[in-house]
Amino acid sequence: MENNTSLVVKSPNTKYTDEYIFSDYEYEETLVTKTGNEIVAKPYRKAICLRTGRKVGKVGVMLVGWGGNNGSTFTAAVLANRHQLSWTTKNGQMDSNWFGSITQASTVRLGIDEKGQDVFVPMSQLLPMVHPDDLFIDGWDISPLNLAESMVRAKVIDYDLQQKLRKEMAAMKPRPAIYDPDFIAANQADRATNLIRGTKQEQYLQLRADIKDFRDKKKLDKVIVLWTANTERFCEFRAGVHDTSENLERALRSNDSEISPSTIFALAAIDEGCTYINGSPQNTLVPGVVERAEKAGVFVAGDDFKSGQTKLKSVLVDFLVSAGLKPVSIVSYNHLGNNDGKNLSAPKQFRSKEITKSNVVDDMVESNGMLYKPGEKPDHVVVIKYVPYVGDSKRAMDEYTSEILLHGTNTIVVHNTCEDSLLAVPLILDLVVLADLFSRVHFRPDESQEWSRMHSVLSPLSYLLKAPLVPAGTPVVNALFKQRACIDNLLRACLGLPPQNHTQLEHKVPFLMSELQSGRMFSGAPPPKKQKISQANGDH
Ligand code: NAD
Repeated sequence: MENNTSLVVKSPNTKYTDEYIFSDYEYEETLVTKTGNEIVAKPYRKAICLRTGRKVGKVGVMLVGWGGNNGSTFTAAVLANRHQLSWTTKNGQMDSNWFGSITQASTVRLGIDEKGQDVFVPMSQLLPMVHPDDLFIDGWDISPLNLAESMVRAKVIDYDLQQKLRKEMAAMKPRPAIYDPDFIAANQADRATNLIRGTKQEQYLQLRADIKDFRDKKKLDKVIVLWTANTERFCEFRAGVHDTSENLERALRSNDSEISPSTIFALAAIDEGCTYINGSPQNTLVPGVVERAEKAGVFVAGDDFKSGQTKLKSVLVDFLVSAGLKPVSIVSYNHLGNNDGKNLSAPKQFRSKEITKSNVVDDMVESNGMLYKPGEKPDHVVVIKYVPYVGDSKRAMDEYTSEILLHGTNTIVVHNTCEDSLLAVPLILDLVVLADLFSRVHFRPDESQEWSRMHSVLSPLSYLLKAPLVPAGTPVVNALFKQRACIDNLLRACLGLPPQNHTQLEHKVPFLMSELQSGRMFSGAPPPKKQKISQANGDH
């Protein structure tokens, strides 16, 4: 399907108006209860109405850390694609693309054709999504360099493309930002000269004024604020400070030392009605921030982009555990030479990264009680070293050792050259595109009820995040394909389509294929009478 093809769902469950796509959806789950040795599984269905706004509007994104490797590369990628730039490298002419973005460069299986063959469509064709060319970009950085200078400093974009982007990016200058040397590494001090001074309350008010300024000047319908600045140390969580929205506000006014710069950014974004996304590991989204977002009906998502090593880990461990193999030791080494690596070479900032990287196999391990006793986990160690020479070209080396049949061992070793920012930037785009889309989706049980939004903690974005933040009491899913299925199936639900079904029964049960091919499947003939299920054990 070409990018300019339109998709229409023909179904009594799906209705299009100028403003919305309405869908009547049957959500299905299975309730499992355990009594002694008996497990009872009871399927249930719940009818839900969904409504997706079709008007995308003007969307702006404000990056915290705009002048960093990710920030400058994101801006370069948007501009290169918008202007359809080509550039020359030693390998010949290159064209712009969005490889690595699920919304722009991946497809979703829509269904089957008359011959039973799979039909795929670009994810961006399923529902109205903001086009990357139409995004407005702004942001903050503690470093005063303009975006062209930042791009040169980052050493990510090919030289010839840099030349084509230089003029436009030189006109982009990050707004002054909040610098608190207690939260990012001391080795960042020399670039911190573009600063908002004053108390934390004054800084918060300035950020709100910045967001308003951007929104008003560009006449935007929506602004999304995304943290891609340096990793902060974890704030020391304190009851009376971080636990409620009210306490947080009081602590901000009293200039409490444990209110981090990123928390001030999150509060300013939420109070301006903007979605806030945390692309770094630190615990910005403390309960008080989440409560504030819930009260304001605003979305938050985090933590930490899942771009390289962890993405692979959340595939490999899922594969091993679901294959009945038992990972017992997972050891991950990284070395990188960009400014992120320099910041992470300080122990407290490394600790933040170590925490988000360390819990990523828990859900997969806990899913198989035949391999692991309750509480048992594989040994899991993460090492990160700063090696300036490799720049943004991060190396990730992993060793997975699993116990196999009769206590044999199987060891898989992976070497991954990550090209850090080129992997992270498409995730930034997807986070923005999907956060905007999900903010236009509403639910209700039936027509007598009011429409409501998704939970303020946008857990469907987990696919893009290393340590997904989920609503309190909700299971965390790290397994990559489950996360992807969640996105695909949510988009399908918005269209009134059933969840992905990979059973392909048409190819296994001959009468289904003949019904498909003869068109009888759609003839409106009444379904066959229900047969009594025999209690006997014999074949029928
Ligand atoms: P970077 O150091 O190149 O960029 C960060 C920018 O943030 C710098 O320009 C710095 O001056 C700025 N900054 C620091 N504190 C700030 C503040 N309080 N306000 C505004 N600006 C501030 O790093 P990067 O490679 O672009 O990575 C950015 C973040 O994304 C890091 O925290 C990193 O851990 C996280 N991350 C990156 C990847 C990836 O690149 N693959 C994956 C996961 C997470």
